[in-house]
Amino acid sequence: MNILLSNDDGIFSPGIHALARAVQGVAKRVLIVAPDVEQSASGHSITIRRPLRYTRTRLRELPGIEAYRVDGTPADCVVLGVHNGGRPDVLVSGINIGPNLGYAVTHSGTVAAAIEATTLGIPAIAISLQTGDGELDFQYAADFAARLVSEITRHGLPERTLLNVNFPIGRPKGVTVSRQSTYTYQDAVVKRTDPDGIPYYWVSGTPKGTPEPDTDFTAVTSGYATITPLRLDLTDEGFLAELSPIASLLTQQQP
Ligand code: MN
Repeated sequence: MNILLSNDDGIFSPGIHALARAVQGVAKRVLIVAPDVEQSASGHSITIRRPLRYTRTRLRELPGIEAYRVDGTPADCVVLGVHNGGRPDVLVSGINIGPNLGYAVTHSGTVAAAIEATTLGIPAIAISLQTGDGELDFQYAADFAARLVSEITRHGLPERTLLNVNFPIGRPKGVTVSRQSTYTYQDAVVKRTDPDGIPYYWVSGTPKGTPEPDTDFTAVTSGYATITPLRLDLTDEGFLAELSPIASLLTQQQP
């Protein structure tokens, strides 16, 4: 099995190193293609107005694993990884430092790498770990990812569907499947002044989650690892029919 790994925390993040070590056991070939610097919250953007570099990178922690850094986004990494390294059997993105839940997945570069692979018809899994005050321990999530990859490559994924996996802090009480929640970040814009007296803005946010039943947010905050299947097709099937008469009306009113 050929596995392509990427992330949005950057090629030197311990999360992708732990993931690489773990999936080495189930793969014939592991290829890492990741951003040269952190790209968290870059979403699914790709770089089209400037050239990109694809640079062989020796990772001291991972001797024997082929790795490349890209001066672009996670989606760029997947595009170049597939172009240069060939089509993998599966793409795994992560392990992200911090959860990717609910609506926040639309900002996530970790999930975007998996989205990019899905658009290319490659089965894809995004892995994220909830963080707290203690030291980060990727071991459980990494070993779980390796087992999940084996199961998924055997079972397959529906077309245009990817898996978003989130781990709680500490050893999970179990593994659940869940829906996407409405978890998001409450925008917080801080206005400050630079040394020249010109204002600048710092956009951040505070997590905002409602404990809806059977959702990714509720599972992770209750101490469970959880797998959410996400579809690329965002079409609202129900509203499509309701919208149809409005389109007809607009057609009739056409001058
Ligand atoms: Mn990140």
